[in-house]
Amino acid sequence: MSDLSHAGSLFVIVAPSGAGKTSLVRALLERQPRLVLSVSFTTRAPRPGERDGVDYFFVTPEQFEAHRAAGAFFEWAQVHGNGYATSRAWIEEQVRAGHDIVLEIDWQGAVQVFQVFRDAVGIFIAPPSLAALEERLTRRGQDSPAVIAQRVSAARVEMREAGRFQHVIINQDFASALGQLDAIVEAARTRYAQQRARDPEFFASLGVGSTQD
Ligand code: 5GP
Repeated sequence: MSDLSHAGSLFVIVAPSGAGKTSLVRALLERQPRLVLSVSFTTRAPRPGERDGVDYFFVTPEQFEAHRAAGAFFEWAQVHGNGYATSRAWIEEQVRAGHDIVLEIDWQGAVQVFQVFRDAVGIFIAPPSLAALEERLTRRGQDSPAVIAQRVSAARVEMREAGRFQHVIINQDFASALGQLDAIVEAARTRYAQQRARDPEFFASLGVGSTQD
């Protein structure tokens, strides 16, 4: 799929594990019910409470590889030793429907998305510090100390990729981070290309022809 100009916006939200991305995105979806969230494929095991088809599509490494080889993935990456990917068919369907899409993925996947969708809105969520990140991961209680140590050192590396993103939200305070995320979504919708694709008759009535007029 090429760089489609469409009525919807494609938001790519990236953050080191424990930066608070999942809670922020959940709250954003409550505020913005028209956003649709992609459910990724992963080879990692479900965490307690995670449901197949809701949080992720949980697949074996063999199934993942078969999908990948068949070109079923819009983007994919290995993160913390597991495969993660976004469905190509799902993205194409949502773009065609003009929906606003949210991808909650890692930075390597984001780079692949930006190559195809040059107007994708990249948002990087940073923790206020690495110490705060470690504390959050510990409090979450989902990972072993060894995994937490691995994720903190991965975060150090991931933070270096923040410059690839149009927006950086520092998640010091949940409410203000959510407000910033919400503002980015609202502003993205007023972009010329999106407005024009959403309501071509309005622009035609003003005598506006091509997207560059
Ligand atoms: P977790 O295992 O903690 O749910 O996710 C680990 C990392 O994988 C996170 O940075 C998350 O954003 C990323 N991730 C989740 N789904 C995808 C995906 O479809 N593609 C890519 N590239 N990364 C993903």
